[in-house]
Amino acid sequence: MGNEAVRLGEVLRRHDLRLKKGLGQNFLADPVHLDRIVAAAELTSDDVVLEIGPGVGTLTVRLAQRAGRVVAVELDAALLPVLAEMLAGQSNVSVVQGDILQFDPAVLVGEQSYKVVANLPYYITSAAIRHLLTATRPPELVVLTIQREVAQRIVAHPPDMSLLAVSVQYYARPELVARIPAGAFYPPPKVDSAIIRLRRWETPPVEVSSDDQFFAVVKAGFGQRRKQLRNSLGSGLSIGGDAADHLLAAAGVDPTRRAETLTLDEWAAITRARQTTIGS
Ligand code: SAM
Repeated sequence: MGNEAVRLGEVLRRHDLRLKKGLGQNFLADPVHLDRIVAAAELTSDDVVLEIGPGVGTLTVRLAQRAGRVVAVELDAALLPVLAEMLAGQSNVSVVQGDILQFDPAVLVGEQSYKVVANLPYYITSAAIRHLLTATRPPELVVLTIQREVAQRIVAHPPDMSLLAVSVQYYARPELVARIPAGAFYPPPKVDSAIIRLRRWETPPVEVSSDDQFFAVVKAGFGQRRKQLRNSLGSGLSIGGDAADHLLAAAGVDPTRRAETLTLDEWAAITRARQTTIGS
């Protein structure tokens, strides 16, 4: 770790680069953790990888050694000369400058199925996950380094669910792979991190006629956290407490329960009941 951090510092000094906190520039300087991230992506030479935020390319080089092709999207144009130097020997990497949230990931990688690997800038964690999982052609596998506390929220089970957990688990099966202490980064962030892997479901885990209907119900349910479902759904769906009681009875869910306690199946049952009993 020491050596890699010194090398990072040396590269940044030589290019006269100042780290931009606002862009989440905490570079991972520990080879053990870098290797763990790469291993979590289960790469073969057939894989196409989209990397978000290559920084100075420490993870990118490792990805390029195992995957068939890597497309790396970096927002900070000042890092491009460093990346060009670090990736000089890698003919299978292309670097695109820009904001990942402004690109359709599938367009960046082309026709093939692809994986996403990223030590994410933390300020875009939720937006980036949503962007990837709801893309027209979402990645088959996503390996992310994110704040540990957020990773734990994503893999939660009832009674500790959240809108984030339901949203991720609707599209993918999340697994916590490993913890990364703050000291493995240069400079160290204030909190610990974790590697998380999201495996996209091949078939949806629940049966609903539309994602939008499902998320309208889930968002209403979590709209007033810690409230009983009859109240949160009554006001969130603008139907009132009595209609919410009917809806929940039709779905077989106790109206006094709270959103955090529901399984995905129960959210789906409410969504289906809403479609049949209310007709909306
Ligand atoms: N991959 C490197 C590593 O593992 O050390 C750097 C990771 S650093 C936590 C996050 C990187 O994402 C930074 O290089 C930052 O400039 C870049 N970044 C920040 N916002 C971005 C965005 N919206 N789109 C693409 N890259 C972004």
